Amino acid sequence: MPTSPHILVLGCNFAGLTTARYIRAFAGDEVDITCVDRTPYLTFVPNIPLEVWHNNNPAEELHLPFVKFLDRDDIRFIHAEVQGIDVDGRSVEYTPVERSGSAAESVGYDFLVIALGNNLAFEEIEGFAEHGHTLTDTYYGEKLRRYLHEGGYKGGPIAVGSDRFVQGHHPDLPLLPEAKAACEGPPVEIAFSMAHWLEKHEMGDARSITLFTPAEVIAEDAGEKILDELLPMVEDLGFGYRADTEGIERLYEDGIEFEDGSSVEAELKIIFPNWTAHDVVKDLPITDDQGFVVTGLQMRNPDYPEVFAVGDAASVTVPKLGSLGHKEAEICAQMLGRAAGAHEPDEPIPSLEPEVICMGDMGGRKGFYMHTNEWWGGDTSILKIGYTPHALKMGFKTIYYTTGGKVPTWGLPLSEFVGDHALV
Ligand SMILES: Cc1cc2nc3c(=O)[nH]c(=O)nc-3n(C[C@H](O)[C@H](O)[C@H](O)COP(=O)(O)OP(=O)(O)OC[C@H]3O[C@@H](n4cnc5c(N)ncnc54)[C@H](O)[C@@H]3O)c2cc1C
Repeated sequence: MPTSPHILVLGCNFAGLTTARYIRAFAGDEVDITCVDRTPYLTFVPNIPLEVWHNNNPAEELHLPFVKFLDRDDIRFIHAEVQGIDVDGRSVEYTPVERSGSAAESVGYDFLVIALGNNLAFEEIEGFAEHGHTLTDTYYGEKLRRYLHEGGYKGGPIAVGSDRFVQGHHPDLPLLPEAKAACEGPPVEIAFSMAHWLEKHEMGDARSITLFTPAEVIAEDAGEKILDELLPMVEDLGFGYRADTEGIERLYEDGIEFEDGSSVEAELKIIFPNWTAHDVVKDLPITDDQGFVVTGLQMRNPDYPEVFAVGDAASVTVPKLGSLGHKEAEICAQMLGRAAGAHEPDEPIPSLEPEVICMGDMGGRKGFYMHTNEWWGGDTSILKIGYTPHALKMGFKTIYYTTGGKVPTWGLPLSEFVGDHALV
């Protein structure tokens, strides 16, 4: 009896978990699926700031154990660190990480999905460990929570912004706009929600905060129309604003020095780093000049058609946004369902149509909702501010937790529908 094709998914956070579960939905029992991740839980990154403002340790609520969801779909989980990928030999070397001292093993595949995200290169920023803060994972979130809520922060100036992102290039990539920051929804969201936190705690307001960007303009992927609304709002509320910093030279106790030679005074420095490719992926013959995995808009590598990539690890995911990863997950799963002979859609499998869908917290149960593809040449450009976007952001987490990452096909479109048309 022929064996079922084995699909190996590396990484099981937003992109990997959704892809694996959708593969099961599209491929049925025709395939064996295995996921590998160094943690047995998903980190619900976008809600870390909210937990910190509310004085909750973000690890309490935002680590979602996913093994039960994989079990439900008969997907095997390997709790291990991926150590190497042999794309010619179609195998992956890993080390189990539950206890230290485990021996390296390997697993073969017929199809590989790389969903390992990226390396967040704080290590490249001089002075970050001593003087920097961030909200990119629950460790750093908890560190900032303690600093803010346990008397560390003295009410001085705050700077929020990104280091320079170096986007990858490759002749086989579709034409993409060039980003100088990996993802600037979070710094904008944090500036707004932090201003609310400062007011509530009588420690300042928007005027205490300077937003900075390495690019010509912050959140360039929001497109001109939205920025024409957003930037005057930033100015009217009294935020400081620095563009074109070209990146971070170093952090020091009282501020940040930028690559363009300028500096900003800051007691609290909330930093988003460069997103770089993981070493295990970087030098493979499937990557661009920065080590991100090259795919077309159906998430398949052109030279190794059995290799797919989704989420932040894929070159085409610019900016590094979970909502893009979600769309890619569905496309990739359909492609694999078809490859397994179990999915014969009436319509052609769609290609990725890049767009930003972003729901941000602004404090006080208000939020912003952004839906735009203008940066990629499209004509959708919607910005809403009010109570509904905040409810959408909270609602998305509830849907995500309830469905275990298998957000129904109406999940994102429903958010779009409500966000695009609701009175806020
Ligand atoms: C503060 C903040 C707010 C954000 N808000 C939003 C938002 O509102 N909307 C939005 O769309 N996006 C948002 N994003 C971006 C979003 O979080 C990322 O795009 C998303 O997490 C990427 O998902 P991923 O699965 O591709 O990668 P990751 O989330 O990075 O997951 C990669 C997985 O691979 C595993 N892994 C990595 N290397 C190895 C290895 N060698 N061995 C084994 N396992 C490994 C990791 O453990 C992890 O589980 C935000 C980001 C930040 C930092």
